[in-house]
Amino acid sequence: MIDKCISCSKKIVNEGVKFKCPSCLKENICRCDACRKKAVQYKCKCGFIGP
Ligand SMILES: [Zn+2]
Ligand SMILES: [Zn+2]
Repeated sequence: MIDKCISCSKKIVNEGVKFKCPSCLKENICRCDACRKKAVQYKCKCGFIGP
């Protein structure tokens, strides 16, 4: 499985973070290093929007 950044939809090759949504604690959120550094917003399937 290839992880995609939830913000920019780019494939996460080596740098990136993965964590569970702090709201629903079910969905896995993947973000690339660039979006993490820029604190780009993401939106979980549950509707939670966060940095
Ligand atoms: Zn990204
Ligand atoms: Zn969620």
